[in-house]
Amino acid sequence: MSFQNPVFIPGPTNIPESLRKACDMPTIDHRSPLFGQMLHPAREGVRKILKSDEAEIFIFPSTGTGGWETALTNTLSAGDKVLAARNGMFSHRWIDMCQRHGLEVQIVETPWGHGLPADRYAEILAADTGHQIKAVLATHNETATGVKSDIAALRRALDAAGHPALLFVDGVSSIASMDFRFDEWGVDVAVTGSQKGFMLPAGLAITGFSPRALDATRDAKLSRTFFDVNDMAKGYANNAYPYTPAVGLLNGLRQSCDMLLAEGLDNVYARHHRIAEGVRAAVRAWGFDLCAADPSLYSDTVSAIRTPEGFNATDIVTHAAQKYGVAFGVGLGEVAGKVFRIGHLGSLTDVMALSGIATAEMCMADLGLGIRLGSGVAAAQDYYRGHPAESRKDAA
Ligand SMILES: *Cc1c(COP(=O)(O)O)cnc(C)c1O
Repeated sequence: MSFQNPVFIPGPTNIPESLRKACDMPTIDHRSPLFGQMLHPAREGVRKILKSDEAEIFIFPSTGTGGWETALTNTLSAGDKVLAARNGMFSHRWIDMCQRHGLEVQIVETPWGHGLPADRYAEILAADTGHQIKAVLATHNETATGVKSDIAALRRALDAAGHPALLFVDGVSSIASMDFRFDEWGVDVAVTGSQKGFMLPAGLAITGFSPRALDATRDAKLSRTFFDVNDMAKGYANNAYPYTPAVGLLNGLRQSCDMLLAEGLDNVYARHHRIAEGVRAAVRAWGFDLCAADPSLYSDTVSAIRTPEGFNATDIVTHAAQKYGVAFGVGLGEVAGKVFRIGHLGSLTDVMALSGIATAEMCMADLGLGIRLGSGVAAAQDYYRGHPAESRKDAA
């Protein structure tokens, strides 16, 4: 690996210099008003990025996975039924976590490369007239397959059935990079981490709770200590945590939110879309398909690229690291060896993306995939030339 090259993995993402500096802080008293001056603006920034007026933001020293556990253990009891589709490695892991906590998961098996089937959710919710289902789980952006799902459609499915289940959304690889609307979609718990769209090191689980989700904490019996949101709320009221917070990361988060909001969320989303479209133009020029089954499912944060039958896609990733010092993502689970992934989220420009596309081309040519050097790069260049950035305030 090289410390000079950007990474093209779908998290952790490249860290802008200003955020690295913001995280690098002298020790302060984490029970002082000074800490509150980092904590509260960070929470307020996250709330704005979630597009919510009413979500309570809870931030734990953890990762996205800890955010999943926060959502489940604060709102549910052993034996409760939850509804979840499995369409990739991350939705699979969240389901596995539910089962390990003694929840009963009604699993909608969905082909990898497809989105969450809102019509199946609608049928199941309508049939559940006794309201046994307490929560609906949704992975907004399935990072293993590069597939985004329609969360508004799941909300419509819940509403059409008049079903009171809570809606939990994993936005780990979408929030702060792709459009996310906590209030409008009626999300009850949103989950993310610090190391993807927020462009920070790993180390924070970032969650938003709706008033209904907070109500559910009163009757929820699953055990929780470290991730108890009510303990956290008591701490926040005193500019503190129930334990020692990750002060530097929270200061970084405050700054990251400022950067994203200064760029403008619409500009952030447009930048991710533009960069992704260039990558997709390259993939087409190579003659390959994306794992995502339909253009409406294309993720603007990660592309999972299918390689020809009989070729081990992981070889591209290994080769890129060894020969060129560049990181791409391997295929996970069912699509291991069948896809490699280009992460294109966080602090990235089209110029950086071109270097990743060029590197992938060199690797594929080295490995005998019959790629003409420059073909994907030229397709991406054409796209970027024809679609100049609206804003030059790209994340520095
Ligand atoms: C990265 C990721 C996770 C896991 O987050 P960690 O921070 O690694 O615990 C969960 N869900 C999705 C969609 C992800 O991309």
